[in-house]
Amino acid sequence: MKAEKIRKSIEKFGNDREHLMLILRDLENASGKNVLDIETLESVAAEMNIPEGAVAGFVDFYTMFKTKPRAKYVIRVCKSGPCHVMGSTTIFDAVQKHLGIGIGETTRDGMFYLEKCECLGVCSVAPAMMVNYDIHGNLTPKRIKDLLDSYKKKKPSAGEQCGKEVEGKACIINEPRQTKRLLDKIGVVDPLKIDSYLGNGGLDSLKKALSMSPADIISEVKDSGLRGRGGAGFPAGMKWSFVTKGPMQKYVICNADEGEPGTFKDRILMEENPQLLIEGMAICGYAIDASIGYIYIRGEYRRSIERLQAAIEQARKKGILGKNIMGSKFSFDVFIKEGGGAYVCGEETSLINSMEGKRGYPRFKPPFPGGAGYMRLPSNVNNVETLMSVPMIIEKGAEWYRSAGPTNCSGTKLYCLSGKLNRTGLVELPMGATLKEIIDLHGKGIKKGKKFKFAHVGGSAGGILGKDLMNLPLDIDQPIKQGVTLGSGVVLVCDEDTCAVDYLLQILSFFEHESCGQCVPCRVGTVQLHHLVKKFAMRTANESDIDLLIEKATLMKKASLCALGQSPIMPITTMLKYFRSEFVKHCKPDYKCAACDTSLKRYYSGSHLH
Ligand code: SF4
Repeated sequence: MKAEKIRKSIEKFGNDREHLMLILRDLENASGKNVLDIETLESVAAEMNIPEGAVAGFVDFYTMFKTKPRAKYVIRVCKSGPCHVMGSTTIFDAVQKHLGIGIGETTRDGMFYLEKCECLGVCSVAPAMMVNYDIHGNLTPKRIKDLLDSYKKKKPSAGEQCGKEVEGKACIINEPRQTKRLLDKIGVVDPLKIDSYLGNGGLDSLKKALSMSPADIISEVKDSGLRGRGGAGFPAGMKWSFVTKGPMQKYVICNADEGEPGTFKDRILMEENPQLLIEGMAICGYAIDASIGYIYIRGEYRRSIERLQAAIEQARKKGILGKNIMGSKFSFDVFIKEGGGAYVCGEETSLINSMEGKRGYPRFKPPFPGGAGYMRLPSNVNNVETLMSVPMIIEKGAEWYRSAGPTNCSGTKLYCLSGKLNRTGLVELPMGATLKEIIDLHGKGIKKGKKFKFAHVGGSAGGILGKDLMNLPLDIDQPIKQGVTLGSGVVLVCDEDTCAVDYLLQILSFFEHESCGQCVPCRVGTVQLHHLVKKFAMRTANESDIDLLIEKATLMKKASLCALGQSPIMPITTMLKYFRSEFVKHCKPDYKCAACDTSLKRYYSGSHLH
């Protein structure tokens, strides 16, 4: 890469380390081969006065970057849960056959490079893949040839979405029996025009908030019972009240690093109603005395990034962001930070490290971000769905908010339906909807009249629910009593054809891939768990390996630093609760299992074992 281009890129984004992600992404895009070669990294390090090892470590950490030349177009085929059960192996097959390359290889003409990747956040239209930044859903092997050939004629685009995703709205289930609060303006408001937002009651809440005292706003949010929608379920108002007070700079951080496989709700919210997120963040900023907000968005979400950036610029022009917003004494602005493909950055302290231009390692807590977050200054981190729930609480009041959902977890929840259902997509229901309601009413039952086998709720870090838990209220507290978690609201439904071993293999390969490696129990444990379940898939395990799986995952739960290493125990124990006998059957060398054979061949053969 020419020194001049490197200097220009640094000038464009700024010389501070916090801009490293954007600089490197810009340089990688400009390389023409989706590569950041070592010489480029050395020059960046020298120009920015960052140790070379820190830049190399940064690039190594984020899966979207590579130091090996790839191709003009990088094809990332998703292998996460929803895509896996919907046939991603057939997509790998079709791509490999059409291009004559394997995973990790480039076509002779330098046009295409093939990778496997984890969740792309379009799970209702699985199986999916990304070509550079274009996301394609509803794939079938038949579509692959024409789709890839079309790239030979076009210029690389900044990001577009295909299939049903073209409309975006199509991802919301068209079922009237919902309680639409967050979704009620989607399809009404034009996400590209701020006037449309303003014409539909937008900013009424912020206006009202600016006439209230910050303490009253925090009380209202506390009284509403709003709990974090990212997975942990911590009371939002209480979190706000923990932010250190004083004259120092404080930050509102929106966690839009939606990487939990099966989750796509935040993407739809950001793409379809970006101004509502800005409004929620401004109210939070006013309440905690923060004048700067950051939205940390996963790098794969190009359309969300573009729409939010446009929304921010329009809001600045209207005086809704900037100095003395809406004629008040309060100043607030919002900026976007991008991720680089690391699931662990969904953890708030990893996310903050990533924002600072570092590897996204989780930090030891305490201190918590409320005391020492971004740049070691007080920061409040909330998820997109949480922050977007705030304006309605301010506008309509805590009591109204509590009118939906149970006392302990009030409000509505966005449930992300994927897998073998007749209807997949997003639904908004009072917190505590049951699996039965979700499958029968909103999902319209299982595809092709097959039998239900299990639902994976809460994403990879969640648990398996069998028929016996069809009536369990899926709120924040009830599932935990059954050893599962609602997490971010994933409901991935699997039918009778799903092999329990093959499914768990896919989950544990995910954890191995996403472990940041900072602490030994998780770094080593995820590899061992994956290896153990692979033995069942290969029919070389014996029954004692089942106990070993549980033993190792239990140890990891106790000894790992963050939620990632503490999580594999949940899918393992809940899967074994229902399907232990299937694992026992896989111990027989002559047991036939086409699903395991296919996965082993597609994902774990050749030089791409992991
Ligand atoms: Fe990293 Fe895993 Fe340790 Fe979390 S538990 S810090 S992901 S190695």
